[in-house]
Amino acid sequence: MRWSQMHIPTLRTDPADADAPSHRLLLRAGYVRQLMAGHYSLLPLAVRVRAKVIGIIREEMSRIGAQEFMLPAMHPREVWERSGRWEVMGEEMFRLKDRKGADLALGMTHEEIFGTLATELSSYKQLPQIWYQFQTKFRDEPRAKAGLMRTREFTMKDSYSFDLAAEGLDAAFDRHHDAYVRIFRRLGIPAIPVEASSGAMGGSASTEFMCPAEVGEDLVVHCPSCGYAANIEKAVSRLPETADEPGPASPERFATPGVRTIEDLARGFGATGDRQIKTLVYVLDEALTLVLLRGDHPLSEQKLSDATGATALRPARPEEIQEALGALPGSLGAVGVTGPPVLADEALRGRTDMFTGANTDDVHLRGVDVARDIAVTTWADLREVAEGESCARCGSPLEVRKAIEVGHIFKLGYKYADALGIEVLDDKGERTPVIMGSYGIGVERAMAAVIERHHDAKGIVWPLSVAPFQVAIVIAQSDDPDTAKAAEDLYTALLAAGAEVIIDDRAERAGVKFKDTELVGIPYRLTVGKRGLAEGTVELTTRATGETLRVPLPEAVAHVQ
Ligand code: ATP
Ligand code: MG
Ligand code: MG
Ligand code: MG
Repeated sequence: MRWSQMHIPTLRTDPADADAPSHRLLLRAGYVRQLMAGHYSLLPLAVRVRAKVIGIIREEMSRIGAQEFMLPAMHPREVWERSGRWEVMGEEMFRLKDRKGADLALGMTHEEIFGTLATELSSYKQLPQIWYQFQTKFRDEPRAKAGLMRTREFTMKDSYSFDLAAEGLDAAFDRHHDAYVRIFRRLGIPAIPVEASSGAMGGSASTEFMCPAEVGEDLVVHCPSCGYAANIEKAVSRLPETADEPGPASPERFATPGVRTIEDLARGFGATGDRQIKTLVYVLDEALTLVLLRGDHPLSEQKLSDATGATALRPARPEEIQEALGALPGSLGAVGVTGPPVLADEALRGRTDMFTGANTDDVHLRGVDVARDIAVTTWADLREVAEGESCARCGSPLEVRKAIEVGHIFKLGYKYADALGIEVLDDKGERTPVIMGSYGIGVERAMAAVIERHHDAKGIVWPLSVAPFQVAIVIAQSDDPDTAKAAEDLYTALLAAGAEVIIDDRAERAGVKFKDTELVGIPYRLTVGKRGLAEGTVELTTRATGETLRVPLPEAVAHVQ
Protein backbone atom coordinates (compact mmCIF):
# COMPACT_ATOMS: atom_id res chain seq x y z
CA MET A 1 0.00 0.00 0.00
CA ARG A 2 1.14 3.51 -0.81
CA TRP A 3 0.61 6.27 1.71
CA SER A 4 0.13 8.73 -1.12
CA GLN A 5 -2.92 6.80 -2.29
CA MET A 6 -4.44 5.80 1.01
CA HIS A 7 -7.00 7.90 2.85
CA ILE A 8 -5.26 8.66 6.15
CA PRO A 9 -6.54 12.08 7.24
CA THR A 10 -4.23 12.75 10.21
CA LEU A 11 -4.86 15.93 12.17
CA ARG A 12 -2.13 18.37 13.19
CA THR A 13 -3.70 19.10 16.55
CA ASP A 14 -5.80 17.29 19.10
CA PRO A 15 -9.50 17.25 18.33
CA ALA A 16 -11.78 19.02 20.78
CA ASP A 17 -14.14 16.99 23.01
CA ALA A 18 -12.06 13.83 22.93
CA ASP A 19 -10.73 13.17 26.41
CA ALA A 20 -10.10 9.43 26.32
CA PRO A 21 -6.69 8.74 24.74
CA SER A 22 -8.12 6.14 22.36
CA HIS A 23 -10.83 8.52 21.19
CA ARG A 24 -8.38 11.36 20.63
CA LEU A 25 -5.84 9.16 18.85
CA LEU A 26 -8.34 7.36 16.64
CA LEU A 27 -9.53 10.74 15.40
CA ARG A 28 -6.15 12.36 15.17
CA ALA A 29 -4.41 9.45 13.45
CA GLY A 30 -7.13 9.22 10.84
CA TYR A 31 -8.83 5.97 11.89
CA VAL A 32 -12.40 7.10 12.54
CA ARG A 33 -14.84 9.92 12.00
CA GLN A 34 -18.05 10.53 13.91
CA LEU A 35 -21.29 10.53 11.96
CA MET A 36 -23.41 11.36 15.02
CA ALA A 37 -23.07 10.68 18.73
CA GLY A 38 -22.37 6.96 19.15
CA HIS A 39 -21.94 6.19 15.45
CA TYR A 40 -18.53 6.15 13.82
CA SER A 41 -17.27 5.54 10.31
CA LEU A 42 -14.19 3.36 10.27
CA LEU A 43 -11.62 4.58 7.75
CA PRO A 44 -9.24 2.22 5.92
CA LEU A 45 -6.63 1.96 8.68
CA ALA A 46 -9.30 1.10 11.25
CA VAL A 47 -10.80 -1.49 8.93
CA ARG A 48 -7.42 -3.22 8.75
CA VAL A 49 -7.09 -3.29 12.55
CA ARG A 50 -10.66 -4.50 12.93
CA ALA A 51 -9.94 -7.34 10.49
CA LYS A 52 -6.91 -8.33 12.56
CA VAL A 53 -8.93 -8.37 15.77
CA ILE A 54 -11.67 -10.40 14.11
CA GLY A 55 -9.05 -12.77 12.69
CA ILE A 56 -7.60 -13.47 16.13
CA ILE A 57 -11.02 -14.02 17.68
CA ARG A 58 -12.06 -16.29 14.79
CA GLU A 59 -8.93 -18.44 15.17
CA GLU A 60 -9.53 -18.91 18.86
CA MET A 61 -13.21 -19.66 18.35
CA SER A 62 -12.33 -22.33 15.76
CA ARG A 63 -9.86 -23.78 18.22
CA ILE A 64 -12.71 -24.49 20.64
CA GLY A 65 -14.82 -26.00 17.88
CA ALA A 66 -17.22 -23.10 17.33
CA GLN A 67 -19.10 -22.74 14.02
CA GLU A 68 -19.54 -19.36 12.40
CA PHE A 69 -23.03 -18.08 11.48
CA MET A 70 -24.39 -14.78 10.22
CA LEU A 71 -27.80 -13.77 11.53
CA PRO A 72 -30.01 -10.79 10.71
CA ALA A 73 -29.50 -7.58 12.65
CA MET A 74 -33.23 -6.77 12.39
CA HIS A 75 -35.70 -8.96 14.28
CA PRO A 76 -39.45 -9.39 14.52
CA ARG A 77 -41.11 -8.42 17.79
CA GLU A 78 -42.58 -11.92 18.31
CA VAL A 79 -39.28 -13.65 18.97
CA TRP A 80 -38.39 -11.09 21.64
CA GLU A 81 -41.89 -11.40 23.12
CA ARG A 82 -41.32 -15.11 23.58
CA SER A 83 -38.39 -14.56 25.94
CA GLY A 84 -40.09 -11.65 27.69
CA ARG A 85 -37.30 -9.30 26.65
CA TRP A 86 -39.36 -7.10 24.34
CA GLU A 87 -40.42 -5.45 27.62
CA VAL A 88 -37.26 -5.99 29.68
CA MET A 89 -34.89 -4.34 27.20
CA GLY A 90 -36.81 -1.08 27.53
CA GLU A 91 -35.35 2.02 25.99
CA GLU A 92 -32.00 0.45 25.19
CA MET A 93 -33.58 -1.45 22.31
CA PHE A 94 -34.04 0.38 19.03
CA ARG A 95 -37.51 -0.34 17.67
CA LEU A 96 -39.09 0.45 14.35
CA LYS A 97 -42.07 -0.43 12.19
CA ASP A 98 -42.06 -1.62 8.64
CA ARG A 99 -44.47 -0.34 5.96
CA LYS A 100 -47.08 -2.92 6.99
CA GLY A 101 -46.95 -1.69 10.56
CA ALA A 102 -45.13 -4.75 11.92
CA ASP A 103 -42.98 -4.11 15.02
CA LEU A 104 -39.29 -4.76 14.57
CA ALA A 105 -36.20 -4.44 16.74
CA LEU A 106 -32.56 -3.91 15.95
CA GLY A 107 -30.73 -6.70 17.74
CA MET A 108 -28.83 -5.79 20.91
CA THR A 109 -27.82 -9.44 21.37
CA HIS A 110 -28.91 -12.69 19.71
CA GLU A 111 -29.99 -15.27 22.33
CA GLU A 112 -33.50 -15.28 20.91
CA ILE A 113 -32.43 -15.77 17.31
CA PHE A 114 -29.74 -18.41 17.88
CA GLY A 115 -32.13 -20.06 20.35
CA THR A 116 -34.82 -20.22 17.68
CA LEU A 117 -32.39 -21.88 15.27
CA ALA A 118 -31.51 -24.36 18.03
CA THR A 119 -35.11 -25.62 18.16
CA GLU A 120 -34.13 -27.68 15.11
CA LEU A 121 -31.71 -29.71 17.22
CA SER A 122 -33.48 -32.98 17.92
CA SER A 123 -31.13 -35.44 19.57
CA TYR A 124 -28.61 -35.40 22.39
CA LYS A 125 -26.20 -36.86 19.83
CA GLN A 126 -26.03 -33.43 18.17
CA LEU A 127 -24.82 -31.82 21.38
CA PRO A 128 -22.71 -30.01 22.36
CA GLN A 129 -22.84 -27.13 19.86
CA ILE A 130 -21.08 -23.76 19.93
CA TRP A 131 -22.39 -21.22 17.44
CA TYR A 132 -21.13 -17.72 16.87
CA GLN A 133 -21.08 -14.71 14.60
CA PHE A 134 -19.60 -11.25 14.14
CA GLN A 135 -22.59 -9.00 13.93
CA THR A 136 -23.58 -5.37 14.36
CA LYS A 137 -25.43 -4.78 17.61
CA PHE A 138 -27.56 -1.74 18.21
CA ARG A 139 -28.04 -0.32 21.66
CA ASP A 140 -29.57 3.02 22.46
CA GLU A 141 -27.01 3.76 25.14
CA PRO A 142 -28.04 6.57 27.49
CA ARG A 143 -24.53 8.01 27.13
CA ALA A 144 -22.50 7.05 24.10
CA LYS A 145 -18.92 7.85 25.10
CA ALA A 146 -15.22 7.92 24.38
CA GLY A 147 -15.20 7.18 20.67
CA LEU A 148 -15.33 3.46 19.93
CA MET A 149 -15.56 2.56 23.61
CA ARG A 150 -19.31 2.96 23.95
CA THR A 151 -21.24 3.35 20.74
CA ARG A 152 -24.84 2.75 19.74
CA GLU A 153 -23.79 0.54 16.83
CA PHE A 154 -20.86 -1.89 17.21
CA THR A 155 -19.60 -5.28 16.15
CA MET A 156 -19.84 -8.06 18.66
CA LYS A 157 -18.46 -11.55 18.47
CA ASP A 158 -21.30 -13.34 20.16
CA SER A 159 -21.32 -17.08 20.74
CA TYR A 160 -23.90 -19.42 22.19
CA SER A 161 -23.42 -22.90 23.59
CA PHE A 162 -26.03 -25.65 23.68
CA ASP A 163 -25.57 -28.62 25.98
CA LEU A 164 -27.49 -31.51 27.39
CA ALA A 165 -26.67 -30.92 31.05
CA ALA A 166 -25.02 -28.54 33.49
CA GLU A 167 -21.64 -30.26 33.22
CA GLY A 168 -21.68 -29.64 29.48
CA LEU A 169 -22.42 -25.96 30.05
CA ASP A 170 -19.60 -25.79 32.60
CA ALA A 171 -17.21 -27.23 30.01
CA ALA A 172 -18.36 -24.80 27.28
CA PHE A 173 -18.04 -21.91 29.72
CA ASP A 174 -14.52 -23.00 30.69
CA ARG A 175 -13.51 -23.40 27.06
CA HIS A 176 -14.72 -19.87 26.34
CA HIS A 177 -12.91 -18.61 29.41
CA ASP A 178 -9.66 -20.08 28.11
CA ALA A 179 -10.30 -18.83 24.57
CA TYR A 180 -10.91 -15.32 25.94
CA VAL A 181 -7.69 -15.42 27.95
CA ARG A 182 -5.82 -16.33 24.74
CA ILE A 183 -7.66 -13.75 22.63
CA PHE A 184 -6.96 -10.86 24.98
CA ARG A 185 -3.35 -11.93 25.40
CA ARG A 186 -2.88 -11.96 21.62
CA LEU A 187 -4.59 -8.57 21.31
CA GLY A 188 -2.26 -7.06 23.90
CA ILE A 189 -5.12 -6.38 26.34
CA PRO A 190 -4.21 -7.26 29.95
CA ALA A 191 -7.73 -8.44 30.76
CA ILE A 192 -8.56 -9.78 34.21
CA PRO A 193 -11.45 -12.26 34.56
CA VAL A 194 -13.77 -11.10 37.35
CA GLU A 195 -17.00 -12.32 38.90
CA ALA A 196 -19.88 -10.38 37.45
CA SER A 197 -23.62 -10.03 37.55
CA SER A 198 -25.88 -11.37 34.83
CA GLY A 199 -28.21 -8.42 34.37
CA ALA A 200 -30.88 -8.72 31.70
CA MET A 201 -29.34 -11.93 30.34
CA GLY A 202 -30.60 -13.91 33.31
CA GLY A 203 -28.72 -17.00 34.39
CA SER A 204 -26.58 -18.32 37.18
CA ALA A 205 -22.96 -17.26 36.69
CA SER A 206 -20.99 -14.82 34.66
CA THR A 207 -17.44 -13.63 34.25
CA GLU A 208 -16.36 -10.31 32.80
CA PHE A 209 -12.98 -9.67 31.24
CA MET A 210 -11.79 -6.33 32.51
CA CYS A 211 -8.96 -4.23 31.14
CA PRO A 212 -7.67 -1.87 33.84
CA ALA A 213 -7.69 1.68 32.45
CA GLU A 214 -8.43 5.16 33.75
CA VAL A 215 -11.18 5.70 31.19
CA GLY A 216 -12.97 2.49 32.22
CA GLU A 217 -16.55 2.89 33.35
CA ASP A 218 -16.59 -0.18 35.58
CA LEU A 219 -14.99 -0.65 38.97
CA VAL A 220 -13.19 -3.87 39.73
CA VAL A 221 -12.53 -5.01 43.27
CA HIS A 222 -9.33 -6.96 43.49
CA CYS A 223 -7.37 -8.67 46.25
CA PRO A 224 -3.66 -8.66 45.41
CA SER A 225 -3.07 -11.26 48.08
CA CYS A 226 -5.46 -14.11 47.13
CA GLY A 227 -6.43 -13.03 43.60
CA TYR A 228 -10.14 -12.55 44.33
CA ALA A 229 -11.56 -10.26 41.65
CA ALA A 230 -15.11 -9.11 41.07
CA ASN A 231 -17.05 -6.30 39.51
CA ILE A 232 -18.07 -3.91 42.25
CA GLU A 233 -21.66 -4.71 41.33
CA LYS A 234 -21.04 -8.21 42.59
CA ALA A 235 -18.18 -7.87 45.03
CA VAL A 236 -18.42 -8.78 48.68
CA SER A 237 -16.13 -7.91 51.55
CA ARG A 238 -15.83 -8.88 55.18
CA LEU A 239 -17.73 -6.54 57.46
CA PRO A 240 -15.65 -4.72 60.05
CA GLU A 241 -15.87 -6.14 63.54
CA THR A 242 -15.67 -2.96 65.56
CA ALA A 243 -17.57 0.26 65.60
CA ASP A 244 -15.09 2.48 63.82
CA GLU A 245 -17.26 4.42 61.47
CA PRO A 246 -19.28 7.37 62.60
CA GLY A 247 -22.97 7.17 62.00
CA PRO A 248 -26.03 8.85 63.41
CA ALA A 249 -26.43 7.36 66.87
CA SER A 250 -29.95 6.66 67.99
CA PRO A 251 -29.66 5.18 71.50
CA GLU A 252 -33.35 4.76 72.14
CA ARG A 253 -33.57 2.25 69.35
CA PHE A 254 -31.22 -0.07 71.15
CA ALA A 255 -32.79 0.20 74.55
CA THR A 256 -34.50 -3.15 74.28
CA PRO A 257 -32.29 -6.18 73.93
CA GLY A 258 -33.03 -8.53 71.12
CA VAL A 259 -33.81 -7.92 67.54
CA ARG A 260 -36.37 -5.22 67.41
CA THR A 261 -35.28 -2.90 64.67
CA ILE A 262 -33.34 -3.06 61.46
CA GLU A 263 -30.27 -1.74 63.24
CA ASP A 264 -30.43 -4.73 65.53
CA LEU A 265 -30.57 -6.90 62.51
CA ALA A 266 -27.55 -5.25 61.04
CA ARG A 267 -25.71 -5.87 64.30
CA GLY A 268 -26.62 -9.50 64.01
CA PHE A 269 -24.89 -9.58 60.68
CA GLY A 270 -21.66 -8.23 62.09
CA ALA A 271 -22.28 -4.63 61.18
CA THR A 272 -21.91 -2.07 63.90
CA GLY A 273 -24.87 -0.89 65.82
CA ASP A 274 -24.37 2.76 65.13
CA ARG A 275 -23.95 2.40 61.42
CA GLN A 276 -26.84 3.80 59.55
CA ILE A 277 -28.90 1.31 57.66
CA LYS A 278 -30.60 2.57 54.57
CA THR A 279 -34.00 1.12 53.97
CA LEU A 280 -35.66 1.40 50.62
CA VAL A 281 -38.85 0.09 49.22
CA TYR A 282 -38.63 -1.30 45.73
CA VAL A 283 -40.98 -2.96 43.35
CA LEU A 284 -39.19 -6.12 42.23
CA ASP A 285 -41.04 -7.99 39.52
CA GLU A 286 -44.24 -6.38 40.73
CA ALA A 287 -43.73 -7.37 44.37
CA LEU A 288 -43.35 -4.57 46.86
CA THR A 289 -40.14 -5.37 48.66
CA LEU A 290 -38.13 -3.96 51.48
CA VAL A 291 -34.45 -3.56 50.77
CA LEU A 292 -31.88 -3.01 53.47
CA LEU A 293 -28.38 -1.88 52.85
CA ARG A 294 -25.58 -0.17 54.61
CA GLY A 295 -26.41 3.48 54.65
CA ASP A 296 -23.10 4.87 53.45
CA HIS A 297 -23.17 3.02 50.13
CA PRO A 298 -25.40 3.69 47.21
CA LEU A 299 -27.72 0.96 46.07
CA SER A 300 -26.73 -0.66 42.83
CA GLU A 301 -29.89 -1.69 41.04
CA GLN A 302 -27.83 -4.22 39.15
CA LYS A 303 -26.82 -5.87 42.38
CA LEU A 304 -30.33 -5.78 43.70
CA SER A 305 -31.54 -7.49 40.58
CA ASP A 306 -28.81 -10.12 40.91
CA ALA A 307 -29.44 -10.76 44.56
CA THR A 308 -33.16 -11.20 44.06
CA GLY A 309 -33.33 -12.52 40.51
CA ALA A 310 -35.78 -9.76 39.65
CA THR A 311 -35.75 -8.68 36.03
CA ALA A 312 -37.84 -5.53 36.47
CA LEU A 313 -37.30 -3.17 39.32
CA ARG A 314 -38.04 0.39 40.31
CA PRO A 315 -38.37 2.39 43.50
CA ALA A 316 -41.83 2.10 44.99
CA ARG A 317 -44.08 5.13 44.87
CA PRO A 318 -45.22 6.51 48.23
CA GLU A 319 -48.86 5.79 47.46
CA GLU A 320 -48.07 2.14 46.73
CA ILE A 321 -46.41 1.78 50.10
CA GLN A 322 -49.21 3.60 51.81
CA GLU A 323 -51.74 1.32 50.24
CA ALA A 324 -49.83 -1.82 51.15
CA LEU A 325 -49.34 -0.69 54.71
CA GLY A 326 -52.97 0.12 55.02
CA ALA A 327 -53.76 -3.48 54.23
CA LEU A 328 -51.61 -4.79 57.08
CA PRO A 329 -52.77 -5.45 60.58
CA GLY A 330 -51.45 -3.68 63.64
CA SER A 331 -49.61 -0.46 64.03
CA LEU A 332 -48.08 -0.35 60.61
CA GLY A 333 -51.11 1.03 58.97
CA ALA A 334 -50.84 4.08 61.12
CA VAL A 335 -47.43 5.11 59.83
CA GLY A 336 -47.53 8.18 57.69
CA VAL A 337 -45.75 8.50 54.40
CA THR A 338 -42.80 10.77 54.77
CA GLY A 339 -40.72 9.24 52.02
CA PRO A 340 -39.85 5.62 51.42
CA PRO A 341 -36.71 5.23 53.58
CA VAL A 342 -38.12 6.72 56.74
CA LEU A 343 -41.41 5.06 56.20
CA ALA A 344 -39.96 1.61 55.96
CA ASP A 345 -37.71 2.19 58.92
CA GLU A 346 -40.63 3.30 61.01
CA ALA A 347 -42.73 0.50 59.73
CA LEU A 348 -40.25 -2.05 60.94
CA ARG A 349 -40.07 -0.96 64.54
CA GLY A 350 -41.17 -3.79 66.68
CA ARG A 351 -42.09 -6.01 63.80
CA THR A 352 -39.45 -8.64 64.38
CA ASP A 353 -41.84 -11.37 63.39
CA MET A 354 -41.40 -10.21 59.87
CA PHE A 355 -37.90 -11.52 59.76
CA THR A 356 -36.73 -15.06 59.91
CA GLY A 357 -33.26 -16.24 60.74
CA ALA A 358 -30.02 -14.44 60.36
CA ASN A 359 -26.51 -15.73 60.62
CA THR A 360 -23.33 -13.83 60.16
CA ASP A 361 -21.88 -15.36 57.02
CA ASP A 362 -24.31 -15.82 54.24
CA VAL A 363 -27.08 -13.79 55.67
CA HIS A 364 -30.45 -14.31 54.21
CA LEU A 365 -32.74 -11.72 55.39
CA ARG A 366 -36.39 -12.03 54.78
CA GLY A 367 -37.47 -8.66 53.75
CA VAL A 368 -40.97 -7.59 54.43
CA ASP A 369 -43.27 -7.80 51.62
CA VAL A 370 -45.89 -5.54 52.79
CA ALA A 371 -48.24 -6.54 50.06
CA ARG A 372 -47.69 -10.13 49.06
CA ASP A 373 -45.03 -12.69 49.67
CA ILE A 374 -41.61 -11.75 50.23
CA ALA A 375 -38.33 -11.19 48.58
CA VAL A 376 -35.17 -12.62 49.96
CA THR A 377 -32.14 -10.43 49.79
CA THR A 378 -28.61 -11.16 50.76
CA TRP A 379 -27.06 -8.58 52.97
CA ALA A 380 -23.57 -9.05 51.61
CA ASP A 381 -24.77 -8.78 48.04
CA LEU A 382 -26.31 -5.42 48.61
CA ARG A 383 -23.24 -3.71 49.92
CA GLU A 384 -20.93 -1.69 47.79
CA VAL A 385 -17.37 -2.64 48.57
CA ALA A 386 -14.91 0.14 49.23
CA GLU A 387 -11.16 0.41 48.80
CA GLY A 388 -9.27 -0.97 51.78
CA GLU A 389 -12.09 -3.15 53.09
CA SER A 390 -11.19 -6.70 53.96
CA CYS A 391 -11.37 -9.42 51.37
CA ALA A 392 -14.06 -11.92 52.37
CA ARG A 393 -11.80 -14.78 51.30
CA CYS A 394 -8.48 -13.94 52.93
CA GLY A 395 -8.96 -10.81 55.01
CA SER A 396 -6.38 -8.69 53.14
CA PRO A 397 -7.25 -5.14 52.08
CA LEU A 398 -9.10 -4.89 48.76
CA GLU A 399 -8.17 -2.59 45.89
CA VAL A 400 -10.70 -0.91 43.65
CA ARG A 401 -9.72 0.13 40.13
CA LYS A 402 -11.34 1.44 37.01
CA ALA A 403 -11.60 -0.97 34.11
CA ILE A 404 -13.06 -1.42 30.65
CA GLU A 405 -15.36 -4.41 30.16
CA VAL A 406 -13.92 -6.03 27.03
CA GLY A 407 -15.69 -9.37 27.21
CA HIS A 408 -18.45 -11.09 29.13
CA ILE A 409 -19.41 -14.76 29.39
CA PHE A 410 -22.68 -16.05 30.88
CA LYS A 411 -24.13 -19.32 32.02
CA LEU A 412 -27.72 -18.81 30.92
CA GLY A 413 -29.26 -22.04 32.17
CA TYR A 414 -32.69 -23.02 30.86
CA LYS A 415 -34.26 -19.58 30.49
CA TYR A 416 -34.22 -19.57 26.68
CA ALA A 417 -34.83 -23.32 26.33
CA ASP A 418 -38.01 -22.86 28.34
CA ALA A 419 -39.10 -19.71 26.57
CA LEU A 420 -38.39 -20.91 23.04
CA GLY A 421 -38.91 -24.65 23.47
CA ILE A 422 -35.34 -25.84 22.76
CA GLU A 423 -35.49 -29.57 23.49
CA VAL A 424 -33.78 -32.73 22.34
CA LEU A 425 -34.39 -36.42 22.97
CA ASP A 426 -31.96 -37.82 25.52
CA ASP A 427 -30.42 -41.29 25.44
CA LYS A 428 -33.61 -42.76 26.92
CA GLY A 429 -35.73 -41.15 24.25
CA GLU A 430 -37.14 -38.54 26.64
CA ARG A 431 -37.55 -34.88 25.76
CA THR A 432 -35.12 -32.77 27.69
CA PRO A 433 -34.47 -29.02 27.59
CA VAL A 434 -31.14 -27.74 26.31
CA ILE A 435 -28.94 -25.68 28.61
CA MET A 436 -27.40 -22.52 27.14
CA GLY A 437 -24.50 -20.16 27.60
CA SER A 438 -23.70 -16.91 25.81
CA TYR A 439 -20.39 -15.14 25.33
CA GLY A 440 -19.55 -11.71 23.93
CA ILE A 441 -16.57 -9.58 22.91
CA GLY A 442 -16.94 -6.06 21.56
CA VAL A 443 -14.64 -5.78 18.56
CA GLU A 444 -14.29 -2.00 18.32
CA ARG A 445 -14.21 -1.61 22.09
CA ALA A 446 -11.31 -4.08 22.08
CA MET A 447 -9.54 -1.83 19.54
CA ALA A 448 -10.05 1.15 21.82
CA ALA A 449 -8.82 -0.85 24.83
CA VAL A 450 -5.65 -1.81 22.96
CA ILE A 451 -4.95 1.88 22.35
CA GLU A 452 -5.69 2.82 25.97
CA ARG A 453 -2.94 0.40 26.96
CA HIS A 454 -0.55 1.01 24.06
CA HIS A 455 0.10 4.67 23.31
CA ASP A 456 2.55 7.41 24.18
CA ALA A 457 2.90 11.14 23.66
CA LYS A 458 3.60 10.60 19.95
CA GLY A 459 0.60 8.44 19.20
CA ILE A 460 -0.60 4.87 19.04
CA VAL A 461 1.82 1.98 19.60
CA TRP A 462 0.06 -1.03 18.09
CA PRO A 463 1.16 -4.50 19.11
CA LEU A 464 2.33 -6.31 15.97
CA SER A 465 -0.65 -8.69 16.17
CA VAL A 466 -3.24 -5.99 15.39
CA ALA A 467 -1.25 -3.25 13.64
CA PRO A 468 -2.73 -2.02 10.36
CA PHE A 469 0.73 -2.51 8.80
CA GLN A 470 3.74 -4.23 10.28
CA VAL A 471 6.21 -1.87 8.70
CA ALA A 472 6.33 1.53 7.04
CA ILE A 473 9.04 2.42 4.56
CA VAL A 474 9.82 6.10 4.71
CA ILE A 475 11.64 7.64 1.76
CA ALA A 476 13.68 10.35 3.41
CA GLN A 477 14.32 12.30 0.21
CA SER A 478 11.51 11.46 -2.20
CA ASP A 479 12.92 13.92 -4.75
CA ASP A 480 16.12 11.91 -5.05
CA PRO A 481 15.62 9.25 -7.76
CA ASP A 482 18.22 6.81 -6.35
CA THR A 483 16.71 6.92 -2.88
CA ALA A 484 13.21 6.49 -4.28
CA LYS A 485 14.36 3.56 -6.40
CA ALA A 486 16.07 1.81 -3.46
CA ALA A 487 12.93 2.30 -1.33
CA GLU A 488 10.69 0.95 -4.11
CA ASP A 489 12.91 -2.13 -4.44
CA LEU A 490 12.75 -2.70 -0.70
CA TYR A 491 8.97 -2.32 -0.86
CA THR A 492 8.74 -4.94 -3.61
CA ALA A 493 10.99 -7.31 -1.66
CA LEU A 494 8.90 -6.90 1.51
CA LEU A 495 5.66 -7.49 -0.40
CA ALA A 496 7.17 -10.60 -1.97
CA ALA A 497 8.15 -11.82 1.51
CA GLY A 498 4.49 -11.45 2.57
CA ALA A 499 5.03 -8.48 4.88
CA GLU A 500 2.20 -6.03 5.51
CA VAL A 501 3.95 -2.91 4.39
CA ILE A 502 3.07 0.66 3.55
CA ILE A 503 5.50 2.90 1.71
CA ASP A 504 5.40 6.58 2.54
CA ASP A 505 6.07 7.93 -0.90
CA ARG A 506 4.52 11.35 -0.30
CA ALA A 507 6.40 14.46 -1.34
CA GLU A 508 6.62 15.59 2.30
CA ARG A 509 9.55 16.38 4.53
CA ALA A 510 10.99 13.34 6.32
CA GLY A 511 10.01 14.87 9.68
CA VAL A 512 6.34 15.03 8.68
CA LYS A 513 6.40 11.41 7.59
CA PHE A 514 8.11 10.27 10.79
CA LYS A 515 5.47 12.05 12.86
CA ASP A 516 2.67 10.40 10.90
CA THR A 517 4.06 6.85 11.14
CA GLU A 518 4.47 7.38 14.88
CA LEU A 519 1.00 8.81 15.30
CA VAL A 520 -0.57 5.99 13.28
CA GLY A 521 1.41 3.51 15.40
CA ILE A 522 3.13 1.26 12.87
CA PRO A 523 5.46 -1.11 14.79
CA TYR A 524 8.51 -0.81 12.50
CA ARG A 525 9.83 1.96 10.31
CA LEU A 526 12.46 1.47 7.67
CA THR A 527 13.98 4.78 6.66
CA VAL A 528 15.67 4.85 3.29
CA GLY A 529 17.94 7.88 2.93
CA LYS A 530 20.87 9.09 0.93
CA ARG A 531 23.41 8.89 3.71
CA GLY A 532 22.60 5.28 4.66
CA LEU A 533 22.45 4.14 1.08
CA ALA A 534 25.97 5.44 0.50
CA GLU A 535 27.13 2.79 2.95
CA GLY A 536 24.50 0.20 1.94
CA THR A 537 22.25 0.50 5.01
CA VAL A 538 18.75 1.56 5.97
CA GLU A 539 17.50 2.57 9.41
CA LEU A 540 15.15 0.30 11.33
CA THR A 541 13.20 2.07 14.09
CA THR A 542 11.03 0.18 16.57
CA ARG A 543 7.96 2.22 17.49
CA ALA A 544 7.56 0.81 21.00
CA THR A 545 11.10 1.50 22.17
CA GLY A 546 12.18 4.25 19.79
CA GLU A 547 15.37 2.27 19.14
CA THR A 548 17.04 2.75 15.79
CA LEU A 549 19.41 0.25 14.20
CA ARG A 550 21.34 0.50 10.98
CA VAL A 551 20.81 -2.65 8.99
CA PRO A 552 22.43 -3.68 5.72
CA LEU A 553 19.87 -3.21 2.96
CA PRO A 554 19.74 -6.92 2.01
CA GLU A 555 18.93 -7.86 5.62
CA ALA A 556 16.11 -5.37 6.09
CA VAL A 557 13.39 -7.82 5.06
CA ALA A 558 14.47 -10.42 7.61
CA HIS A 559 14.44 -7.82 10.41
CA VAL A 560 10.77 -6.95 10.24
CA GLN A 561 9.36 -10.47 9.86
P1 ATP B 1 -21.46 -2.23 29.38
O1 ATP B 1 -21.54 -2.68 30.81
O2 ATP B 1 -20.15 -1.59 29.07
O3 ATP B 1 -22.65 -1.44 28.94
P2 ATP B 1 -22.64 -4.66 28.65
O4 ATP B 1 -22.43 -5.40 29.92
O5 ATP B 1 -23.95 -4.03 28.41
O6 ATP B 1 -21.47 -3.57 28.48
P3 ATP B 1 -22.66 -7.14 27.18
O7 ATP B 1 -24.12 -7.23 26.94
O8 ATP B 1 -22.07 -7.98 28.24
O9 ATP B 1 -22.25 -5.60 27.40
O10 ATP B 1 -21.95 -7.33 25.76
C1 ATP B 1 -20.74 -8.03 25.52
C2 ATP B 1 -19.61 -7.11 25.12
O11 ATP B 1 -19.99 -6.19 24.08
C3 ATP B 1 -19.12 -6.20 26.22
O12 ATP B 1 -18.29 -6.91 27.11
C4 ATP B 1 -18.38 -5.13 25.43
O13 ATP B 1 -17.09 -5.60 25.04
C5 ATP B 1 -19.24 -4.98 24.19
N1 ATP B 1 -20.15 -3.82 24.28
C6 ATP B 1 -21.28 -3.73 24.99
N2 ATP B 1 -21.88 -2.54 24.82
C7 ATP B 1 -21.09 -1.85 23.96
C8 ATP B 1 -21.17 -0.56 23.37
N3 ATP B 1 -22.20 0.25 23.63
N4 ATP B 1 -20.19 -0.17 22.53
C9 ATP B 1 -19.16 -0.98 22.25
N5 ATP B 1 -19.03 -2.22 22.76
C10 ATP B 1 -19.98 -2.66 23.61
MG1 MG C 1 -24.53 -2.08 28.48
MG1 MG D 1 -21.51 -4.52 31.73
MG1 MG E 1 -21.62 -7.26 30.16
